[in-house]
Formats: sequence, structure tokens, C-alpha cells
Amino acid sequence: MRATVMHGPGDVRIENVPDSQIREPTDAIIRVTSACICGSDLWPYTLMTEGEPAQRMGHEAIGIVEEIGSAVATLKKGDLVVMPFAFSDGTCVFCHEHLHTACQHGGFFGNGGMEGAQAEALRIPQADGTLFALPVGPDDALMASLLTLSDVMGTGHHAAVVARVGPGKAAAVIGDGAVGLCGVIAAKRLGAEQIVIMGRHADRLALARDFGATEVVSERGEDGVARVLALTGGLGVHAVLECVGTDQAMDTAVGIVRPGGAIGRVGVPHYEAVPSSLPLFFKNATVGGGPAPVRAYIEELLPDVLEGRIEPGRVFDRTVGLDGVPEGYRAMNDRESIKVMVKP
Ligand SMILES: [Zn+2]
Repeated sequence: MRATVMHGPGDVRIENVPDSQIREPTDAIIRVTSACICGSDLWPYTLMTEGEPAQRMGHEAIGIVEEIGSAVATLKKGDLVVMPFAFSDGTCVFCHEHLHTACQHGGFFGNGGMEGAQAEALRIPQADGTLFALPVGPDDALMASLLTLSDVMGTGHHAAVVARVGPGKAAAVIGDGAVGLCGVIAAKRLGAEQIVIMGRHADRLALARDFGATEVVSERGEDGVARVLALTGGLGVHAVLECVGTDQAMDTAVGIVRPGGAIGRVGVPHYEAVPSSLPLFFKNATVGGGPAPVRAYIEELLPDVLEGRIEPGRVFDRTVGLDGVPEGYRAMNDRESIKVMVKP
């Protein structure tokens, strides 16, 4: 079978690899019907270092169950399923607390030697706890939006939940990538009255407005902070959705959060220590977040997708076959594309 393998910075290849196989009785094999390239895939694409082992890529997918292990109880061959970016057993103490990304028997796809979803098929550990069977067929018109439940929509929602977005509140979303755009959807869905999107790409900002952003701020650094403060009567926003992961983004988050407010961070942090910790302290603001437990959010978000109340699938602006994956990475890295769908 064919799969995407990252070898080094800018060096992503489609290769023939051994067919995925059941290894544990709790495994399933899915045939991938659609997958994605993620903004977080761009970190190894740009920063992978010499000597790091080659890695199968991709952690977002919808697929069809092709084979199940002897202990898999809730799935059957032919089921159409969403694969969250993390696998989880659904039964441990953390899964019961709806923090599936801390599962005691969990892990992450396309990472640390795990198989990836930018491939014809892959092995799913803890299949019963991980996969979510969809109530639609593989040709459903909503497939793009359903695919976002594997990561970006659940991740944007997590940022909003951790940032304590609620009715009547002012929210700001830092980052206009697919997660930031889904964060706008989530903030609106949870009732935010004012939603400021911070970014600088015209196409993405237009989509953010469609999704419910009330204001756009394209300035960065101190100028960006000043603009957001001006838009909120000098108070700052109750909720900051930090969807980038750089120290500059975190500095901005601390600058624009209102005293007593909350910052939900879902971009993998590329800094050692949380910047601006002194102003953060004097604001009594909360910083939370981490890898989103998207498996926990599928049930909540699915009805809104199925009934067309939210359309996160609009973040996809390009579709490629497996052979087009390297070009898809390049296009996302050059910010020519917001998010690429892969149809193996
Ligand atoms: Zn668990």
C-alpha cells in the first residue's frame, strides 16, 4: 500500500510500505476515504532535524473499517468512521473525564512511529474507544465538514471551551489557519457577542467574517494589542483562543486578555516558558489548553454539522490525491492554501 513518509525538512514522499495489519485484538484497519494535511504537519516539514527517524504522516481521517481484531465489539467491517488525531481506549479514568488525549493507553497518529492517515490505510489501536461511526454514507455531501471533526473543528472548539467563551462575551481568535477559523465558528456557536479575528491573509479573514467574526485585526505585536483594546473599550476580551503556538502569539494573548479572563491555547507551544508571566499574574488571567480531546466533542458537534448549522468544511480549499501530497505540503507551507484534503 502507499503512504506518506516525512524524511526531513521539505522532504515528504509517497512510498510503498507494508500493508497495515492487525497487531492487537483491540485494533482495526481502516481504508482511508479522506484525510488532511494539518498545520501541525508543517512543524516537522520545516524543523525536522538530521538523524530523526522517518515518520508516516497524517492524523485526520474518515475511512471505512476493513478489518477488526477479535476484541473489537462496537464496530464492524464496512462502518464509515471518523478517526480523531489521538487514539484512546474510552474506558480509563481520563477518558471518563472526557480528556481522551491523556488516555492511559492512548497516543497520537502520524507521530512517534505510529502509522499515519495520509495513506491508503492505517492501523487503529483501541478501535472501540477511538473510532466514531458516522450515520451517513461515504458520498455524503457533508463529508468535508465531518472530516474536520477529526481535528480542526474539535480543536477550535476546545480553545473556545478552555477560554470560557459564553453568551454575551467578547472573544479574540489569534491565528487565521484552519484551527483559528474553526475557533471563530466555535466562539459564535457558544454565544460570543464580539469575535475579533487576528490574522493577515485576506481570503482567510473573509472566511472568518462569514463564520461570525465581527472585527478583523491584522496588526501584530503592540499595535495588534492596542487595536484589540480599542475595540473593547480598553478592557480586553474575556476569552482568547490562541491557535498559533509561538511566543509572540502568547504575548499578544496576554496583552489582550481582560483581567479575570481566560486564554485557551491549542497551537503546540514552540517556547520553553510561558511569556509575559508577570502581566499574566497581575491580570489574574487563566491559561489552559493542550491537545484537544476531539473524541469527546464529536457527539456534541455532529448534530450541528449534520443539520448545517456550522460548515467547518469550508476551510478546505484544495483537494489532492496521494501523489499530490508533497505539493499540498508546499502550498500550505507557502500559505497558498488554508487546508488541503487528501483523497487517497
Ligand atoms: Zn483512556
